[in-house]
Amino acid sequence: MIIIMEPEASELQIQHVIDYAHNLDLKTIVNKGVVQTVIAAIGETNKYSTEQFEAIDGVRTVQRIQVPFKLASRDSQHADTVVTVRGNIKIGGNNPPVMIAGPCSVENQENLIAIAKVAKECGAKIIRGGAFKPRTGPRMFEGLGKLGLEYLDVARKETGLAVITELMDARDLDMVAEFTDIIQIGARNMQNFTLLNELGRVKNPILLKRGLCATIDEWLLAAERIMDKGNTQVIMCERGIRTFDSKYTRNVADIAAIPLIRRLSHLPIIFDPSHATGKWNLVSPLALASLVAGAQGLIVEVHPDPEKALSDGPQTLNFENFRKLCKDIEKLMSVISPLKCN
Ligand code: PEP
Ligand code: MN
Repeated sequence: MIIIMEPEASELQIQHVIDYAHNLDLKTIVNKGVVQTVIAAIGETNKYSTEQFEAIDGVRTVQRIQVPFKLASRDSQHADTVVTVRGNIKIGGNNPPVMIAGPCSVENQENLIAIAKVAKECGAKIIRGGAFKPRTGPRMFEGLGKLGLEYLDVARKETGLAVITELMDARDLDMVAEFTDIIQIGARNMQNFTLLNELGRVKNPILLKRGLCATIDEWLLAAERIMDKGNTQVIMCERGIRTFDSKYTRNVADIAAIPLIRRLSHLPIIFDPSHATGKWNLVSPLALASLVAGAQGLIVEVHPDPEKALSDGPQTLNFENFRKLCKDIEKLMSVISPLKCN
């Protein structure tokens, strides 16, 4: 429920509405605009009438939020959420797009440091790498587990890059939260509700990948669940969806989801051209396209020798191609930044 206060409403009147909502067990988000204050009341609002709020002094009008996701909705918070990582990396809003780069899986220390150094030299701010890998077959490389987290920690110390890694199992949450700066929730776990429920108890920002077949509402409701449990630092990540044609690409890159999420939600959205396409030679064109569409960051798989990568080699950029992509992004951003009106 959106409660729009009169422009001349006093602080006391605003506080009274907030207290009134809290007494009904509703959460509130307060947006103090230049002209007037808008209060989003969230919870079981269907138990209460809009008239009951409209009767309070200082309230101009009350509207119901029409979308099923409320905390994540742009209706409840007009301004973009900017997620801050390690104090100085800003994801979202009008900040320049953040590059996250690294191998699909953490393989060994030397290889990870070599990748992290190239990532840093190219302007990336965050190193990615899976220590716990969701694999389709039971006899595929499933990651190094805790050792992989330790390798990521060393790469962070050597380069100063922040770290993102995937969490698959709630039993590993405390350990992963301690090692990583951002927790990645993979496509296969986007609707693992018990795992999502746990994320409210950690402070790490969450990168929430879109599920393989998830609708936009399902994806935003997954974000809503994490926020509802107490962690509002959610970054959305479009990584392609399954449709009828997988002959040439692993997934279909839903670029339209990027401006759509930006319209529906205040949460930042980044794009993963590696999983969205499954083909290394489609990664750069799609990465550039996503930035034009408004992506606020990229997560790209990079490896010194993709042919030998232990997972996702076919969609992984080698150093030369990654360097070229970063140069192209720089050129592109100098053209599109002044045009941005999101
Ligand atoms: C990954 O990032 O390596 C990964 C497994 O991604 P997704 O969950 O999008 O498939
Ligand atoms: Mn991968």
